[in-house]
Amino acid sequence: MTDFDVLVLGSGPGGQKAAIAAAKLERRVAIVERRDMIGGVCINTGTIPSKTLREAVLYLTGLTQRDMYGQSYRLKEDITVTDLTVRTRHVVGREVDVIRNQLARNRVTVLTGSGHFVDPHTVAVVDERGNEMKVTADKIIVATGTRPARPASVQFDDQTIIDSDGILQMDRVPDSMVVVGAGVIGIEYASMFAALGTKVTVVERRERMLDFCDLEVVEALKYHLRDLAVTFRFGETVAAVEKHPRGALTILESGKKIPASTVMYSAGRQGMTENLVLSAAGLAADDRGRITVDEFYRTSVPHIYAVGDVIGFPSLAATSMEQGRLAAYHACDEPVSGMNQLQPIGIYTIPEISFIGKTEDELTDSLIPFEVGVSRYRELARGQIIGDTYGMLKLLVSPEDRSLLGVHVFGTGATELIHIGQAVMGCGGTIDYLVDAVFNYPTLAESYKVAALDAVNKLRRVARITD
Ligand SMILES: Cc1cc2nc3c(=O)[nH]c(=O)nc-3n(C[C@H](O)[C@H](O)[C@H](O)COP(=O)(O)OP(=O)(O)OC[C@H]3O[C@@H](n4cnc5c(N)ncnc54)[C@H](O)[C@@H]3O)c2cc1C
Repeated sequence: MTDFDVLVLGSGPGGQKAAIAAAKLERRVAIVERRDMIGGVCINTGTIPSKTLREAVLYLTGLTQRDMYGQSYRLKEDITVTDLTVRTRHVVGREVDVIRNQLARNRVTVLTGSGHFVDPHTVAVVDERGNEMKVTADKIIVATGTRPARPASVQFDDQTIIDSDGILQMDRVPDSMVVVGAGVIGIEYASMFAALGTKVTVVERRERMLDFCDLEVVEALKYHLRDLAVTFRFGETVAAVEKHPRGALTILESGKKIPASTVMYSAGRQGMTENLVLSAAGLAADDRGRITVDEFYRTSVPHIYAVGDVIGFPSLAATSMEQGRLAAYHACDEPVSGMNQLQPIGIYTIPEISFIGKTEDELTDSLIPFEVGVSRYRELARGQIIGDTYGMLKLLVSPEDRSLLGVHVFGTGATELIHIGQAVMGCGGTIDYLVDAVFNYPTLAESYKVAALDAVNKLRRVARITD
């Protein structure tokens, strides 16, 4: 008999939810995690610290209140790293506690150390003193996540030239910063530092950023970031980053030189598989350290599953959790219906972005006709009350059956508001539901009704002409 029914490697969102789901199904479960990393990248270095930092920035800078109280309004003049990290440490500490408690309550054994395969059913766990313990399991779920990719051409020193993990170790708020890579992580941190008053330059190899989002929304974000003194260098490649006594010099292939006190390199992430000895289990990873799985999250060795960032796209905490639960259910012979295809995307820039379903570009490329219904926060009483006059919600509607094809939100509460659209789309609702629904007043949720009315009015105009 094996030591455990299910053994999970990594306690990020994917591993955690897999372990708890298997425990709820009354299996003997263990989770392997390195010391001080309970909760994974999500809790310790990624999602939770970055979102808490954003909250601290918004609160301390008073940025969202300036429409009301004037552009000079600030809660605190000189914001220090300590002001910012107090909140982050508090939240991370509490979250780790919640996870430890959940694992204990569900009788999941926590094995502290780094795990690697010895054979397809055996994992060795090595703690920080080098002590090794071997454990066996019927089913194994790999949820070891990723780490920031560090190109060899960049001399990271964790002080002046950092990756996204280094943000949390900074000793001061820099007066200038170059962010290399305008992906989600890069642009989220660019907005936070711009809000703090850091002069930010974003360098991106491609001509566009966040090209999977609605173009109009991305344009609105760029306008806001430029207003916070962010400079964009699109279509530019970094040739070298030099460290000097007074800061760093980012040299672009076009010959431009950008001086800054800090450079944050945000150039993708690498799967944490190099120490797993995958070959001992009959597995291999690709050149970015990722493991291939089937629709049930099974690897090519059927009793070994992989979930979360280590399997690649979409690499979100939200999806990793669900993959973990689905993999555990499948491993425990519980019926599974597969991953719901309708998934929201949330980007915590300042202002924030969220969407679900298709973009205008995708629909146009696929020759799918659509009508657009728009609501602007400045026309909502709640928008005026909170001082958000730039926010907007956009519905993309099928003229054929009036179903929602996509919902795009920009501004305060976007990542929360999107779930109304998700529920309507998920239940196959039409804009007529939104037109007829009564929403609390004054709320931002009302924007759904306003946008639905806008779309209905446009559809009526088309129908009148062709009648
Ligand atoms: C700065 C930043 C901001 C982000 N913001 C968001 C956001 O707003 N929303 C969102 O949905 N997602 C966000 N993400 C992505 C999110 O954090 C990840 O998608 C999520 O954490 C992936 O979960 P996971 O289960 O794959 O494991 P991870 O959270 O990556 O954790 C993996 C764990 O495995 C452990 N591990 C690795 N190797 C071993 C081993 N050999 N033995 C034992 N343990 C091992 C590691 O120590 C780690 O704790 C963000 C990421 C970053 C970096």
